[in-house]
Amino acid sequence: MNRIHGFARVLLVVLVALASGCATNTITGRSQLMLMSEESAIQGAVSAYSSMISEFSKKNRVEVASPRVTRVREITNRLIAEAVRFRPDSAGWGWEVQVIDEPKTVNAFCMAGGKMGIYTGFWEKLKATDDEIANVMGHEIGHALASHTREKMSMTMTVGVSTALLAVLASSRSSGDSGAYHRTQNTMAMAAALAITLPNSREAETEADQIGIELAARAGFDPRAAVTLWEKMAKEGDSPAEFFSTHPSPENRAQRLQELVAKVDPLYQAARSGKTAGPLPDFLGMAVNERPVGGVSREEYAARVAAEPEVMTFVAEEFERFRKGEVVFECALECVFAYGYQRGSWKTMHEKNQWRELAVAVVKTGYLNDLSYFLLGEAATGLGFSEVAKTYYMRALEARKAGKTCEGAFNTCGEFAIAERIAAVLGSDVAGQSKNINKNN
Ligand SMILES: [Zn+2]
Repeated sequence: MNRIHGFARVLLVVLVALASGCATNTITGRSQLMLMSEESAIQGAVSAYSSMISEFSKKNRVEVASPRVTRVREITNRLIAEAVRFRPDSAGWGWEVQVIDEPKTVNAFCMAGGKMGIYTGFWEKLKATDDEIANVMGHEIGHALASHTREKMSMTMTVGVSTALLAVLASSRSSGDSGAYHRTQNTMAMAAALAITLPNSREAETEADQIGIELAARAGFDPRAAVTLWEKMAKEGDSPAEFFSTHPSPENRAQRLQELVAKVDPLYQAARSGKTAGPLPDFLGMAVNERPVGGVSREEYAARVAAEPEVMTFVAEEFERFRKGEVVFECALECVFAYGYQRGSWKTMHEKNQWRELAVAVVKTGYLNDLSYFLLGEAATGLGFSEVAKTYYMRALEARKAGKTCEGAFNTCGEFAIAERIAAVLGSDVAGQSKNINKNN
């Protein structure tokens, strides 16, 4: 009886962890299971990566100072510069890439925090071109940017945590365990190492395809190479590439990639014509705030591109509607859970001034209330679209008037003093209006 009780309690703990572990991805707007902070995921990845590379190094399997290594570093550096455009925080990651000398292995990865590896099978078996290498590494970076590795680590953690708890329950006489703390630390590194051997979901694959092909195109690499690359890999019929065990093919991948090529080709053409070129920092060899003579630091570069109101192609539609002031929310019931999950991450994005991401996340959720409109107003203000901001602040006031408010019995405004803030931005006539609204409530 006691044991059943205990088991129920463990289940409860795991369920609570699951419920509170959902976070909205700032790039894709998708809600993901996240049981650990980004910081601990990165820590785990760093330690897993360094033991992995030192193992390969002992066997003389890490290529050093070959022309191939130089090319891979150039290619990935250009991709990282584009990645930072959409995740400014990634400018501070400890980016690293190693070429692993295993001519029969066709595989590549990017762990949480930007620790990358590519196996020489890409050249030896597939005769991959630079454009193809850029597309495969773009795809891998896409997984890391969209926190897929962290998501997979969370899944291994769920299994790990519940197994550990059940083990404790099973031995009811277990005494104090001094090794427990140490084991927790190792668990992170193990989860990181495991995560890159687990298959991604098809959903994650689609996201990584989209992000990867766009990073490559913006960095000046032919997006068509994504198509030829997957074709080459698929042809390895007798010994399918290791790559496919962790990167399952979403349905109609070839067709979807073709459609993506059409979307990102203008970005590729612009990059090739040099229109978008500027000095790039060395993400693979330079400290975060180091500035070479006549160049930019990683920090400065990140701040500059974060201020440009550009979003990734697959959220561009939402962002364009937002930018034009065209977003009108209608969803009341179906969106309420999504709203409940995501509010916390909206607050974080607001605190960090991640205006593009905030706008896209709120639009994607689509929940009708004053907070949703208010946050669009804030995002528009942050991005300098002041007329559009007014439109959304007014819609927030209208929503309040109609009783669609985050205040009330279950206050979900997340410490935003909506009425006061709108009054301060819009001026006194609206201030009077919002006071009336407050009175009516
Ligand atoms: Zn993948």
